[in-house]
Amino acid sequence: MEIKFGDLSREYREIKEEIDRAIKKVLEKGWFILGEEVERFEEEFAQYCGAGYAVGVASGTEAIAVALMALGIGPGDEVITVSHTAVPTAVGIWMTGATPVFVDIEEEGMLMDPEKIEEKITEKTKAILPVHLYGQMADMERICEIAKKHNLYVVEDAAQAHGAEYKGKKAGVYGDVACYSFYPSKNLGAYGDGGAIVTNNEEIYKKAKLIRNYGQETRYHHKIMGINSRLDEIQAAILRVKLKYLDEWNEKRRKIAGIYDEGLKDVVKTPLELPGRKHVYHLYVIRTGKRDELMEYLKKKGISTLIHYPVPVHLQESFREFTSSRLEKTEKIVGEILSLPMHPFLKEEEIEFVIMHMKDFFLNKQP
Ligand SMILES: *Cc1c(COP(=O)(O)O)cnc(C)c1O
Repeated sequence: MEIKFGDLSREYREIKEEIDRAIKKVLEKGWFILGEEVERFEEEFAQYCGAGYAVGVASGTEAIAVALMALGIGPGDEVITVSHTAVPTAVGIWMTGATPVFVDIEEEGMLMDPEKIEEKITEKTKAILPVHLYGQMADMERICEIAKKHNLYVVEDAAQAHGAEYKGKKAGVYGDVACYSFYPSKNLGAYGDGGAIVTNNEEIYKKAKLIRNYGQETRYHHKIMGINSRLDEIQAAILRVKLKYLDEWNEKRRKIAGIYDEGLKDVVKTPLELPGRKHVYHLYVIRTGKRDELMEYLKKKGISTLIHYPVPVHLQESFREFTSSRLEKTEKIVGEILSLPMHPFLKEEEIEFVIMHMKDFFLNKQP
């Protein structure tokens, strides 16, 4: 048996007719940028998140950049974020000219440690940017409390957290603005690049809408400085079809996580669902001291695994100019984490196959 890490062709086969129809409709209409599909999707996605507004942009990275620009954050400003994340989190900050400042994570959820934030706040700090990594939201209550005390914005990186909840609310509700990615492999993915910002703040919404379209208010009249970062009509049409399935697919991920949890709890550290959270398992990340050997072993058995992420942002060559103190927990867990195959179309026998070989590795192949 060969088990791929993700398999979007299975998804497409499931919803082929609806997707084909949605794309055809856009092609026949002949309108590709900022039209009805994007508008509808923005309404539907904002409603799904329980927030007032959404603005479609070209990627998750640019969602972060546009959100920060809409808050007036740029050169000379500092934004506090985590180093244990996908590099684009910090790239989105860098794009605005602001400086990313990295804080450590807590060990249970591997998310931003609120208790480490205050020591990094300076007079230049403008925002805190937590990442809802792996499909689980950071401690938004505590983070927002700290932000309020120091008069800082909260910008959420929700690129891995479509549908995740903290005390019954989704990303975009607690913070000033949340940034989503629709990269194909995300829980809600386009068939190309895409992203969105979600907010309850009308002013941020209006500014972000201008910024994504060269600051243009009415045709050829440019009110503020902006860039070109738009979600296109074909991707929006695809996302509208897929949004209807998001809850069902997240439930499937949660069910698969439950089976993994039960099967693997005696051999590795399985991921924790923290109090008050609804984890949507964008990634299922286990921890073990024998990570590299395990990864190699599973590969020989035909099972693809990945590491999210092997090099923290503050240790990336490209981020050398942004100095950071040591981040003890971030640097410790990168040697232990391993992401197992996780997508809504995994079959029961495939999940059992992974569990069997994991157990085999630990119980039979080890001295
Ligand atoms: C995917 C991702 C991004 C970037 O999204 P793109 O759409 O690829 O630009 C940002 N942050 C996190 C945590 C991500 O997983």
